[in-house]
Amino acid sequence: MKAVIYNGPYDVKVKDVPDAKIVRPTDVLVRITTTNICGSDLHMYEGRTSFEQGRILGHENLGEVVEIGSGVERVKVGDYVCLPFNVGCGFCENCEKGLTGFCLTTNPGAVGAAYGFAEMGSWEGGQAELLRVPFADFNCLVLPPDAVEKEDDYVMLSDIFPTGWHATELAGLKPGESVAIYGAGPVGLMAAHSAMIKGASQVFVVDTHQDRLALAEKMGATGINATGDEAVQRILDLTDGRGTDCGCECVGYQCCNKHGHEDNSVTMNSLVASTKATGGIGVVGVFIPQDPGAASDLAKEGKMPFDFGSFWLKGQSIRTGQANAKAYNRQLARLIHQGKASPGGIISHRLSLAEAPEGYKHFDDRDEGWTKVILKP
Ligand code: NAD
Ligand code: ZN
Repeated sequence: MKAVIYNGPYDVKVKDVPDAKIVRPTDVLVRITTTNICGSDLHMYEGRTSFEQGRILGHENLGEVVEIGSGVERVKVGDYVCLPFNVGCGFCENCEKGLTGFCLTTNPGAVGAAYGFAEMGSWEGGQAELLRVPFADFNCLVLPPDAVEKEDDYVMLSDIFPTGWHATELAGLKPGESVAIYGAGPVGLMAAHSAMIKGASQVFVVDTHQDRLALAEKMGATGINATGDEAVQRILDLTDGRGTDCGCECVGYQCCNKHGHEDNSVTMNSLVASTKATGGIGVVGVFIPQDPGAASDLAKEGKMPFDFGSFWLKGQSIRTGQANAKAYNRQLARLIHQGKASPGGIISHRLSLAEAPEGYKHFDDRDEGWTKVILKP
């Protein structure tokens, strides 16, 4: 089968690799019809992780089940399924509680697993023609009959829609409240979409890419074309000096040798400053414990200083981590099915698998108009 493999920093290749196959009775095999490039793939693409050369990328996957293992009860051949990016077992203490991002089974010796991801187990990615899905009765979200018609919306259930939703949950956003979202990449835009659906009174989205902010405004949010103190001041001005009820970090580590060093404390300091006293801060942007390729020494050690004094004085709270995509995606699928959510609206490019290297390059360079790239194997 053809697959997108990591070949080294800023280098992915489309190669012929052995077909994915069923290994255990609880597996299914999925013929991938849509697989996205994610901001999280860029941590690996930029060479800032231990991701091994030759491994297949891709954790935002949707397709048709073409074969099932002998122990699969619920999922059938011919089902269209979306795969939450977290690989869960369904029976460990964390999966039982819906905390599938922290599965204790699927990444032995660590916590949490994903397809095609550094430090997240040995599961191969879905930027390929076929994907092996373990514990398939648990990990497949079987889609309704409009699966093909709304495929570009449903594929966002694999990660960025639940992740954006999770950001607002971690922040504690309630209907009628205001929220500032830092980052207008696909995740920040999904946080804005979620906040609008949840009935937020004011949604601010901060970034310096006008094309991405325009999408936020299309959703009904207020785009803030600035970062740092300037963005904070604009938000304070628009909230009577009080700050927003809560805030979301949807940027994560943004430094590499090609794009230069961005001070990663900028967004956390801004969040502390633009969130009201006692407000919640939800961090879904990825911060990596060891980031050997990072441009700063602190980032190499996974450290990020921020204004803890003001955070403490304001009595704020912070919640972080991988999104438990499975915990949300049934409900979010219903919103899509009923026409109340349309996360596919942010897609800028639909490319073939062969065009993946071009998609990675433009998305990684944040080239104008390259907001969300999806691949159609
Ligand atoms: P992205 O890199 O396309 O988006 C990040 C955006 O942040 C860009 O538009 C960039 O211009 C903007 N930005 C950079 N510095 C900024 C600053 N100081 N202030 C405001 N905006 C700034 O990626 P994405 O796909 O949107 O993902 C965003 C983050 O979310 C990444 O770190 C990704 O790994 C992470 N992520 C986390 C989860 C999870 O489960 N927690 C899931 C998916 C993605
Ligand atoms: Zn992703």
